[in-house]
Amino acid sequence: MSHPAQTAQSASQHLAGKVAFIQGGSRGIGAAIARRLARDGADVALTYANSPERAAEVVRDIEAAGGRAISIKADSADAEQIKAAVQHAADTFGKIDILVNNAGVLLLGNVAEGELPLADIDRTLAVNVRSVIVASQAVVRHMDKGGRIISIGSTNADRMPFQGGSIYAMSKSALVGLTKGLARDLGPLGITVNNVQPGPIDTDMNPADSAFAADLLGLMASGRYGQVEEVAGFVAYLAGPEAGYITGASLTIDGGFGA
Ligand code: NDP
Repeated sequence: MSHPAQTAQSASQHLAGKVAFIQGGSRGIGAAIARRLARDGADVALTYANSPERAAEVVRDIEAAGGRAISIKADSADAEQIKAAVQHAADTFGKIDILVNNAGVLLLGNVAEGELPLADIDRTLAVNVRSVIVASQAVVRHMDKGGRIISIGSTNADRMPFQGGSIYAMSKSALVGLTKGLARDLGPLGITVNNVQPGPIDTDMNPADSAFAADLLGLMASGRYGQVEEVAGFVAYLAGPEAGYITGASLTIDGGFGA
């Protein structure tokens, strides 16, 4: 097995000299994105809300591989905390080239049966949608031409094949329109804005060995869950120089969940 530092050296460094800010980088897909962007050469600032140890572990892994990273406690439901975290990252690394809006919550409940309290609806919108607007606004003043804003939506924006997911699906659908509008607003600044829509990915939020997973597998062309590294690779491509003509797009990586 190769040492992490060797892996970092042998990998493509197409993000060398870039700085990435990742909302929600302590676990799951966000942690994989942090590791991957660092492997590709970027300095990484990642936020966390409830998992300081997991965030510190991601930072340690990146540093052990020869990269630079910091973790910042910031609840994505709180606009002031997001703004302060963005400022902290820009002060530390001098600029921000790549914003990844990964923080998300999945709060399920059948609306018809009144299972979802208003507080859960508000929290879903604050974390999954409003944080994207707040972070984008905050980051833009630190971002030059060639900047990248990438949100992690969901294939549930297009297909919600089970009960109880209406509010989550609504929040991820909101990102489709938001991405288009932001792409128009930021196009003149040379910044691209895109929305990555994963299907079922094996994480704490959606473990591949649950009873729920067994039901989902039957709905997929691939018949398997995706791995966090597969989403991270897609994000790394969108963050890089080859993806400069992609903007305003919602791009699905879902193993055929929506096919
Ligand atoms: P996890 O629950 O495994 O991890 C969520 C990450 O987001 C953690 O790092 C968590 O940090 C962070 N986070 C959550 N709430 C907040 C908050 N209020 N402020 C700051 N950070 C926060 O989820 P996944 O990795 O599975 O999901 C990541 C994204 O991908 C989400 O947007 C999700 O909706 C989306 N997605 C996931 C799919 C899946 O099947 N897994 C499929 C499609 C989309 P901490 O622990 O520190 O609070």
